[in-house]
Amino acid sequence: MEDLLFEERADQIHRKGEKPYQMSCDRESLAGAVSQRACVFCGSRVVLYPIADAVHLVHGPIGCAAYTWDIRGALSSGPELHRLSFSTDLQEKDGIFGGEEKLYQALTELIDRHRPKAAFVYSTCIVGLIGDDLKSICRKVSQEKSIPVIPVESEGFKGNKRAGYNAACRAMFQLMGTGATDSISPISINILGDFNLAGEIWIVRDYFHRMGIEVVANITGDGRVVDLQRAHGAALNVVQCSGATIDLARMMQESFGTPFIRVSYFGVEDMAEALYSVARFFEDRDPRIMERARDLVREELSTLYPKLQEYRKALQGKKAAIYVGGAFKAFSLIKAFRLIGMQVVLVGSQTGTEEDYQELHDITDEGTIIVDDSNPLELSSFLKEKDVDVFVGGVKERPIAYKLGVGFCDHNHERKEPLEGFVGMLHFAREIYTSVMSPVWRFVPRKTSRSGNGRSSRADGHCGRLAGQSA
Ligand code: SF4
Repeated sequence: MEDLLFEERADQIHRKGEKPYQMSCDRESLAGAVSQRACVFCGSRVVLYPIADAVHLVHGPIGCAAYTWDIRGALSSGPELHRLSFSTDLQEKDGIFGGEEKLYQALTELIDRHRPKAAFVYSTCIVGLIGDDLKSICRKVSQEKSIPVIPVESEGFKGNKRAGYNAACRAMFQLMGTGATDSISPISINILGDFNLAGEIWIVRDYFHRMGIEVVANITGDGRVVDLQRAHGAALNVVQCSGATIDLARMMQESFGTPFIRVSYFGVEDMAEALYSVARFFEDRDPRIMERARDLVREELSTLYPKLQEYRKALQGKKAAIYVGGAFKAFSLIKAFRLIGMQVVLVGSQTGTEEDYQELHDITDEGTIIVDDSNPLELSSFLKEKDVDVFVGGVKERPIAYKLGVGFCDHNHERKEPLEGFVGMLHFAREIYTSVMSPVWRFVPRKTSRSGNGRSSRADGHCGRLAGQSA
């Protein structure tokens, strides 16, 4: 075990088996530790941004807008207004005299030009300081243009990314309860917490469709304003990324009585369980729904398993590290790595809760490092100590892996290949295989605690192809 880098963070790191489990989490990041977390505004923006027929206007300096401009691969099957980033570009003069007039002008111009179904107006740090009255400007423009114009209370300094998720949920909730629901089937769901990265929500929607279930609203991948407005008519909320959208599910339960269940679509076990949980919920309304779910899973697995076995043979005994935004993904990733014969030796998240870390502790192997709200120095030190073969993370973790000569798998914003569903498990296994076994590791020495800058014995790459696999 290496010495702690930051004494103050000792209770946010746990090494399973070394002492009785106890962890602290869900608190402000340590100043100076350079947390991997993003700000409140970014948290709200990543949740709302995939709503494709709305204008997303960032009321703040241009830097805030650049920070989140089109960084996610959230695809749309129709309008693509979400791909454009708009900002009021607040400057020094606006900081002194206020930016309300500028906001009004920007909003009216954007609505006239793009004819969106709604507009979201994001508050940033400076707006919180100068005190622009977003609510009244939004109300005024909403009345003039006859579309919902919704302020998002996401000033960057108001907390951490989790507070941004909450601001996004409160903003979306304002749309709900305003659309007609008479034509909605009694066997219907909303999909919460899937952002349609690389088209993933289309895979999951197809599964539900094959089971005979109507999907009322995608929240928010490939999302539409009109669907959000009638989402309260669905019989069940199916919540994936619980950190991001659980607050919305709770608000809907309280106001509309919509029950919710938590699921994950990553990995074979969790994907199948997600379908079975939804089938169980509707079993009394449709006695054949479970049978259809089982048929679907059987059919998908019959083609998937033989292919997975080939990857498992090659990857057996390799080691993985995981650092993700919300912890739900980590649970599924641990199971997915086990399925392909790999061991997870480090797992952490930016915004995990007490229950999340307890669950991680329960499902990980002895010796695994569990970490909350980590930073580049800590992560580098853990990767070197554990001599891992592949690191799974997002855009901010990628350079850490590459600098240490470790394979990397993007499981976050930027990926271009779907990793959800049964087909996603196959993509995941293939990506891990090609990263771990890439011939590039012959030329990039892996840094470990034992070898200093020297190359680990595990770093011997080969051609990166399975027998019979074409380039
Ligand atoms: S911390 Fe404040 S200034 Fe920085 S990106 Fe977030 S909202 Fe903008």
